[in-house]
Amino acid sequence: MVGKDKYTLFFDLLLVEKMSREARDFGLTVIVGPMFSGKTTELLRLLTRYKMAGYTVALLKPSIDKRYSEREVVSHDGLKMEALAVEPNYSGLEEALRKLEDVEVIGIDELQFFEPDMKIVELILRVSLEKRVFVAALNLDFRGEPWEVVKELLPRADDVVSLQAVCTYVDPKTGKRCGAPATRTQRLIDGKPAPRDAPRILIGGRESYEPRCRRHHEIS
Ligand SMILES: [Zn+2]
Repeated sequence: MVGKDKYTLFFDLLLVEKMSREARDFGLTVIVGPMFSGKTTELLRLLTRYKMAGYTVALLKPSIDKRYSEREVVSHDGLKMEALAVEPNYSGLEEALRKLEDVEVIGIDELQFFEPDMKIVELILRVSLEKRVFVAALNLDFRGEPWEVVKELLPRADDVVSLQAVCTYVDPKTGKRCGAPATRTQRLIDGKPAPRDAPRILIGGRESYEPRCRRHHEIS
């Protein structure tokens, strides 16, 4: 190498190392919306982008969500990524994040299934000071009530991506589909609105849930 002695090279290397440390991305983005609004698709899209940019990426999901696959997170449109299933409580998440200490970008899917514990919120905020964290979560349960962990994390995030689905309610008189932006998740039992006292968590797909606008969200 012309014009560079080994000391200059050494300082160049130090500078490169310092720059890459400073360039390390951090912050918390929360992706929220009802079911079928594309939250998981958006989460996987963002994580894939970081992967392509050369970052180390890991995806976590609560062990309660066994839809499609136990090992992978799969979006409704078929995108998939290997995921680590964690116990949906503070110690489960803390242990997983400790194991992933060197990973630069963390995704957490289905945050609403984690226990309502402020320590989880504080942990995610703390971790996202050191690395880039993306969280995907349902905005509301089937009754239209917020999920505690999501409710606490959302206003504290650096960035929020709010997604809407399309209301699939069909008017019985006209036979026409509503088609308005949907912000609610309708739970159905044999095609009828679920009662308010039904269990809060029931894993299911299109057979038990529909995206609905506020006008057409019903509880029996
Ligand atoms: Zn509607």
